[in-house]
Order: sequence, then structure tokens, then C-alpha cells
Amino acid sequence: MLRDRHSRRVDYVRVSVTDRCNLRCIYCMPSDGAPRLPHQEILSYEEILRFVGVAARAGISKVRLTGGEPLLRKGFVYLVEEIAGRYPHLDLSLTTNGTLLAQYAADLRRAGLKRVNISVDSLDPDKYRSITRGGELKAALEGLEAALDEGLEPVKVNVVTLKHVNEEVEGFVELVCRLPVHVRFIEYMSPCGACDPQLYVPSDRVRRRLEALGPLKEAPPPAGAGPAIYFRLPGSRGTLGFISPMSSHICGECNRLRITADGKLKACLFSPGEVDVKSLLRSGASDEDILGSIRSCLKAKKRGRDQEASPRRAMYQVGG
Ligand code: SAM
Ligand code: SF4
Repeated sequence: MLRDRHSRRVDYVRVSVTDRCNLRCIYCMPSDGAPRLPHQEILSYEEILRFVGVAARAGISKVRLTGGEPLLRKGFVYLVEEIAGRYPHLDLSLTTNGTLLAQYAADLRRAGLKRVNISVDSLDPDKYRSITRGGELKAALEGLEAALDEGLEPVKVNVVTLKHVNEEVEGFVELVCRLPVHVRFIEYMSPCGACDPQLYVPSDRVRRRLEALGPLKEAPPPAGAGPAIYFRLPGSRGTLGFISPMSSHICGECNRLRITADGKLKACLFSPGEVDVKSLLRSGASDEDILGSIRSCLKAKKRGRDQEASPRRAMYQVGG
């Protein structure tokens, strides 16, 4: 079992498979897009599989594939199939913007993907287009419906709330009344964000808007729930939750590691600290050496957020 130096159990790895994206969400990407990493800098599928194998043998039980937009990477279904086939006990999930999911949901299910998180920041097509700088809401919602049809459940919907941009909650309330999905309002993490820090909205403010619509009853979290609290409104099929990395102290429960598309291991989203796993993978290192690099990354993990240091990477590079 893996533990960090503060004895927190670490059983979850988020693997970013690409830094490319077909959207440019205002809170995640610079307006003129981002320079892409050269192909040879990105971990190959064999390298990802080797890393996941070492992590799984060391006690990692949850793996989430993310990006950039993971569904843009060629052969992504193959990666899912190989991970699920080699490590069937893993809870294998995906975070996607959903715009290509209708095309891939059935193949992903067959390949062994268990569940999916889909980012949909507004249910108003014009607002969605403006937040994503050109995205089509219809495509994301078709992806969401396809995920439900294929049984990739629980389906969670990620909403990053931005002040005076997408604070309306009514559409999401209607969504959880109609469909068995779990909407999570996520606080904008300005230290690794791309838009004005003033757009940050604390979860409490969103919660007050929901409470104005009806009594919120605490609900059990859906499978694989991270640091979110969930509620149900009378008659709703799904739930509404809050992820509050800025206003709550969620570091105490942090159980995760992240590996970037170019093979840098990170124990904390907010810290610049990284361990270069790609160099090890490419220099004939043994599995023991790779495990040693995971342990040394965890050993350097601080108890809480490093308020002094600023994160070196944007979210599309780390994977959220
Ligand atoms: N492209 C996929 C997507 O959008 O779901 C996966 C990658 S994206 C970086 C993963 C998650 O990070 C998304 O739910 C996104 O909304 C969230 N995210 C990105 N930048 C963020 C920020 N500055 N603060 C909070 N969440 C952020
Ligand atoms: Fe792309 Fe996801 Fe970032 Fe939006 S949040 S720009 S979809 S990586």
C-alpha cells in the first residue's frame, strides 16, 4: 500500500494522456490556445501501461484517464482495453468534455471503462459556447446521453462556477430531476486557472442559490466520489454536489497522484514539485526504480497547500 509521509493512504492515480483539446475553456486554456507538446514528449501507451502496472501492484485501485481531451488521442479505446484487460480489479474511469463521447461510448464500455465524468459548464447553448470558446452544447449532451445509454454509471457532471458567468443553477436542477446524473459544482482554482481570479465563487454562494429552490437533503455519494458533498432535492433522480478545493480544507483527505501527459508525477495540484518518470521509463529503469520514484514523490508531499509556491502547470496539462 502507498502512503505519503503524513500517513495518508494513496490509492488513486489520474493519468493525463494528452495536452491537446478541442475546446479552450476560459478557466483552463489561454485565449490563443496553448503550444502543443511534441509527440515524442508524450508518454506512449506502452509507457503509460507500464506505469499503471507498477502503480497497481503497489496498491493503486483507482485510475482516471484525463487530459486535455483524452478522446482526441488516437487509439484511446486500445489504452482502455489494455488497462482493463491487464488490471481488471482497477476502478477505471474517464474525465472528458463529452463532445466526442457519443462516438466512443459503446466502444469504451466494451473495452472495460466503468464510469465517466463529463464537463458541462452551462446548459445554455450560447453561454456554453462562450465559456468553451466555440463548443457546441448539443455535442456534450449527446455524449452524456450516450454514457447513460451504455451504462457508464455513475455519470457525473462537472461544472466550474464563475462569477456572473454561469452562476444559474436552475438548468442543472432540471437535469438531475430528469436524469440520474450527479452534478458537482466545482470552485474555480485560480492558482492553476487561466481567467481572472475575481471570477472565483465559493461553494456556499452556489449552495444558497440551490436552497432558494427547495430543501436540500444530504445524499450518499455516488460510487467513486472524491472530496464532494452531495444533496438531493425532493423528486430528483440524480444529486447535486460541491467540490470546494479553495474554501474547504480537502488536503487532509487527499489520496491521489497525477501523471502529466509528458510523464511528470505530481503529488499535489497546487505544488510545483514533480518527479520525472518519463526519463526513468526511457532509460531502462526497473519496476523497482519506478516504484521508488513514486515513493519519493509521496515523501515530498506537503500536508496542505503550499501557499508560497505557485503551480508550474495549467489544468489542461495536469488533467484536473
Ligand atoms: N477535457 C476534459 C474535461 O474538460 O473534462 C478533461 C480535462 S479537464 C482539465 C478536467 C477537469 O478540470 C474538468 O472538469 C475541468 O472543468 C476542470 N478544470 C480545469 N481548469 C480548472 C480550474 N482552473 N479550476 C477548477 N477546475 C478546473
Ligand atoms: Fe479542454 Fe477540459 Fe480544459 Fe476545457 S477544461 S479546455 S475541455 S482540457
